[in-house]
Amino acid sequence: MAGFWIRINPDGCVDGSVHEKFVGPLAEDAHKEFTPRVADRRREAAQGWRHELVDHAEWDRRAKPCLIGQCQHRKAAS
Ligand SMILES: [Zn+2]
Repeated sequence: MAGFWIRINPDGCVDGSVHEKFVGPLAEDAHKEFTPRVADRRREAAQGWRHELVDHAEWDRRAKPCLIGQCQHRKAAS
């Protein structure tokens, strides 16, 4: 399955995504793609940032509203 890694901030809002074929199957590598420095990755992990592999249907449902700025997270924040 060709999936997408999504990057989720501590509020549960999807902040970015990258195709699985560019980073492979490991969450650690996906995190590295967004956050190159190990110290920053440790800080983000402690803050609650997560990276999840999703298929296209789940990407549409969970990531798309966030990435186009029309999700519940952003409405709650503003
Ligand atoms: Zn969101």
